[in-house]
Amino acid sequence: MSQPCVNIGMVGHVDHGKTTLVSALSGVWTDTHSEEMKRGISIRLGYADTTFRKCPNCPEPQCYTVEKTCPGCGEASEELRTVSFVDAPGHETLMATMLSGAAIMDGAILVIAANETCPQPQTKEHLMALNIIGIKNIVIVQNKIDLVPKEKVIEHYHQIKEFVKGTVAEDAPIVPISAQQNINVDALIMTMEEVIPTPVHKIDKPPHMLIARSFDINKPGTPIKKITGGVIGGTLTEGVLRPGDELEVKPGRKVESDGMTRWEPIVTKVSMIVAGKENVEEATPGGLLAVGTTLDPTLTKSDSLTGQVAGLPGTLPPTRDDLKLELHLLERVVGVSDEEVIGPIKTSEPLMLNVGTATTVGVVTSARKDIAEVKLKRPVCAENDSMVAISRRVGSRWRLIGVGVIKD
Ligand code: GDP
Ligand code: MG
Repeated sequence: MSQPCVNIGMVGHVDHGKTTLVSALSGVWTDTHSEEMKRGISIRLGYADTTFRKCPNCPEPQCYTVEKTCPGCGEASEELRTVSFVDAPGHETLMATMLSGAAIMDGAILVIAANETCPQPQTKEHLMALNIIGIKNIVIVQNKIDLVPKEKVIEHYHQIKEFVKGTVAEDAPIVPISAQQNINVDALIMTMEEVIPTPVHKIDKPPHMLIARSFDINKPGTPIKKITGGVIGGTLTEGVLRPGDELEVKPGRKVESDGMTRWEPIVTKVSMIVAGKENVEEATPGGLLAVGTTLDPTLTKSDSLTGQVAGLPGTLPPTRDDLKLELHLLERVVGVSDEEVIGPIKTSEPLMLNVGTATTVGVVTSARKDIAEVKLKRPVCAENDSMVAISRRVGSRWRLIGVGVIKD
């Protein structure tokens, strides 16, 4: 498998078939966590790589496949490109995870089940998130068409058209499929090839990695001598990373001394890189990577480095304990049945902020109409002018209310 060159997000309401579709396209079932299997929902970000291929003989769209031999005629198929899927959770309480996934998506598939009226709350909230984060390359999938008669599918199509009016997905193609029965998945691959291009990557810059997951891959009881260093997973937004490179991870680790809390960058070395299921000598931006390091795996276990950034020492943006945000708020709260008007941000209110793959909570220390200053509970590492998704507590949970731009 070649290195993945683009990240495609799988977003939409819970149970609409995102994980099933990732599996139909890649053969990987991304819900692997015990809690996920028990509850039947995705909790963490799931990853899967797959290579899109094309049969030289068959007509469109039947020629598009992920199989090495064409299911239609048995001819060897030709490789087009390898993509990474980022499978986001669709449950309403997991919006922060969805937003950290959205930070690494180059394009997205919005999965909408045809057997429920459209839009469901997180169909709306996820589309709003794509809108806010500026993900424009969107394919809409109308899934589970095996469950409803043709007239209902057409009626549902019109509901989708009405729902996306005036959003980034207004002109997005709508592909009816059954992920479970593998119906029309070839047409979906063709549409992704057309609508979600491989981004042009800046490889002449120093490497900059957004960390979306981190792991300890050792089995319990592994003897010290055989311990493998901590592994971080994520994507390069620019630059090239190679085994042997020195790596700085920021904000790093929390150090408490004399009643004070500081964050110290972690410095390590890249021991190996896996991209597209293979060890590579050089990783470039686009798909998802697993980077082996020489870190003590207790530092990377259970996603403890999620939201941090990694790069060559001295090249990363500043660690910020406070953010000054230029505000762009939505008019109404979405993702709830009762869509109340969003009032101005107030001093001392808590906000949840998503910056890149990081999720942090802060308290507003000063607020004017267009600018707010927020003191963070946990610092983030971000460039000036970066975008921040802003959520506020409404009832018992965080609701997306707008976007902010970091100003020094
Ligand atoms: P997610 O929460 O969006 O990731 O949804 P899942 O992929 O976990 O699917 C939820 C349920 O819908 C599972 O029981 C799937 O088997 C089922 N499902 C997914 N796609 C289809 C489909 O195309 N047709 C039918 N009949 N069931 C589907
Ligand atoms: Mg899922």
